[in-house]
Amino acid sequence: MSARRADRLVDLLAERELDALIVTNVTNVRYLTGFTGTNGACVVGREERVFFTDFRYVQQSGEQVRDFERADASRDLLADISARLRGTVGFEEDHLTVAAHRKLGESVPDGVELVPVPGLVERLRSVKDETEVAAMAAAADIATAAYESLRERERGLAGRTERDVAMGLVRFMEDQGSEPPCFPPIVASGAHGSLPHAVPRDVEIARDTLVVIDLGARVDGYCSDCTRTLATGSVTDEMREVYGLVQSAQVEALAAVTAGAECGALDAVAREIIDAAGHADHFGHGLGHGVGLQVHETPRLGKTAEGQVGAGNAVTVEPGVYLPGEFGVRIEDLVVVTEAEPCVLTAFPKDLVTVR
Ligand code: ZN
Ligand code: ZN
Repeated sequence: MSARRADRLVDLLAERELDALIVTNVTNVRYLTGFTGTNGACVVGREERVFFTDFRYVQQSGEQVRDFERADASRDLLADISARLRGTVGFEEDHLTVAAHRKLGESVPDGVELVPVPGLVERLRSVKDETEVAAMAAAADIATAAYESLRERERGLAGRTERDVAMGLVRFMEDQGSEPPCFPPIVASGAHGSLPHAVPRDVEIARDTLVVIDLGARVDGYCSDCTRTLATGSVTDEMREVYGLVQSAQVEALAAVTAGAECGALDAVAREIIDAAGHADHFGHGLGHGVGLQVHETPRLGKTAEGQVGAGNAVTVEPGVYLPGEFGVRIEDLVVVTEAEPCVLTAFPKDLVTVR
């Protein structure tokens, strides 16, 4: 698995006439090598695949890192890495600190040229293979079951605090086999729901209102991400109307997701529908984002996003309308892009569901 990923990386290095890349970002290291510890780095070139960690992780990396030569290093990995470098070597410009870069520059052997490189491993990570899609699908299934668990409870939402609901959802997902989630769930009722990144409060959820719930599970390191807005009883006509608007924007944008679609154009599909209904000022974030080992990855779907989505990208489609001081609605699916229709991983219904 990791051998193939490293091969793909070597192809990208060849395009840039680099002999090797130093990978220091821990998520990128995990993606390439399988190592899940917090202090590891690797050097990938046509001839070499070397993994570096310190004594604390020697045993763990012996089990996890199969396709790389394993070099024991001191806690400060860079000194040991630099001794191994030859030729023109890229480093991850988004992840190496200025101080680390200076140190590396001072310690590399004569003749080594260090070149800053943007997001190469991230580019590989944005295209998921079957194993990755399977892990994300399993994580999405756990999240779906978490929503179902609310529906099955006699007192699912009203009368409980947002924090109690959020903690219960995390417990449920972990009981179902999730690793600690990638992000704490959002449970935001009533007016609090008009904050897209609301933090759950010690406040009881009222009857007859809307509750925005955004959560994700994690399986084999891979995240899922799903939002549903639930009703706790009978809601106002305005709430229903806004819900219907967000739902149609979400469904239309989702239907447009296919390999080759422009990231900015996908955002526009949802935004035009919401703008036309007079809510241009109430959809303040982008349409979606890539998901994988991290909950926010490339590609980004937004007004100013460049580029296209491609087959194997896993992205969210999550328009929302937020009325300050009143309520908010967001509906978010996680989908895998294909040459045809997207494969939707998040299965909980999108018609307004009531959980009392
Ligand atoms: Zn989300
Ligand atoms: Zn999201």
